[in-house]
Amino acid sequence: MKSHTTAVKRDEPNPARSTFLPFHLPSIASEEISAVLEVLNSGWLTTGAKTRAFEEQFGKFVGSPHAVAVNSATAALHLALVASGVGPGDEVIVPTMTFAASAEVVLYLGARPVLVDCEPDTLNLDPAAIEAALTPRTKSIMPVHFAGHPCDMDRIQSIARAHGLTIIEDAAHALPARYRGRMVGAIGDLTCFSFYATKTITTGEGGMATTENRAWAEKMRMLSLHGISHDAWKRYSAEGSWYYEIADVGFKYNLTDLAASLGIEQLKKCHALAAARRRIAAAYDEGFADLAEIAVPVCRSDVEHAWHLYVIQLDLDRLAIDRREFIDALRQRNIGASVHFMPLHLHPFYRQKFGYRPADYPKAAALYERIVSLPIYPKMTDDDIDDVITAVRSIARHHRR
Ligand SMILES: *Cc1c(COP(=O)(O)O)cnc(C)c1O
Repeated sequence: MKSHTTAVKRDEPNPARSTFLPFHLPSIASEEISAVLEVLNSGWLTTGAKTRAFEEQFGKFVGSPHAVAVNSATAALHLALVASGVGPGDEVIVPTMTFAASAEVVLYLGARPVLVDCEPDTLNLDPAAIEAALTPRTKSIMPVHFAGHPCDMDRIQSIARAHGLTIIEDAAHALPARYRGRMVGAIGDLTCFSFYATKTITTGEGGMATTENRAWAEKMRMLSLHGISHDAWKRYSAEGSWYYEIADVGFKYNLTDLAASLGIEQLKKCHALAAARRRIAAAYDEGFADLAEIAVPVCRSDVEHAWHLYVIQLDLDRLAIDRREFIDALRQRNIGASVHFMPLHLHPFYRQKFGYRPADYPKAAALYERIVSLPIYPKMTDDDIDDVITAVRSIARHHRR
């Protein structure tokens, strides 16, 4: 990204990059590698002191008194629903524009995910659609901070308060992010983060649930390891004993110290990694500003965006190619891209189980035809960023109607 690079230069005919630019690469450096080696050499690999330290540091980072580490955000969402009392027959409001995990965890419990449409600019769930979807069985709302842009939490909280609902945030994209000055992780009743390989910080696989509610935190921690009333490391370490009790039907969701040691190092860099993604987003915004064929993502003035994803919207009326062809053209220029997401209601399982049709959520269905996620990760060099801008501009220009 050279600031002197003008739009004119970018519009010169360009050969494809000589190497493929992956859609994502994690930022793993010597600090992470040393931390993992230290755990490997320590003799204690599974949940232990490193996991407790990661939880404590993560809680401080987002400003939440309780943080429970687990082996995925999916596990965190599942435990959050259980701890807050969602059960058979209950309804949980979930956006259709999300990943499989957000709704499947509701189905684990015999409850029903009630899908809602999205706002066309942020792609976050539409608060007006939440109100329209409420029934006497509604128990919770699950806002998903799409791409890392926080949802309109004040409106969602006022709906939740008026109807006695809990808010369980799917913050898999939203670390670090702020809404009206408040860190995501310290807003809703329960917030769930992902440390999957492509997320803003990673432990390979991993997740975290944060809450102000001590009883819910203790319940999630207990259920994360077989419903056992003491942690394994306390049982086996010198201060513990062989004795434990099973207090409930639990799950095998605990995070390992190997993974937590990665998380501790990644968390230290979280703001720096976010700054690197913000810089790429700003370069893209500028590089695409004069392109009528695509719309760049919005960032409202009252939020700090985590920029996990940079999702452009194609103006199909101005282009002679469709979204699939646009992504193929990027690939021909050696640039990886992706789509987030095919809305849940278009998937065979949801269509068959609930009888959804594409037009049930017209905004998400129309957006699905137009969205493209471009690479945005701290390992990208200035030349990589320039290559993406040049490729998008050249495809838009060549396929202009
Ligand atoms: C990645 C993701 C998840 C699941 O995270 P895991 O840690 O892989 O379980 C949940 N919701 C959304 C929106 C995601 O993008």
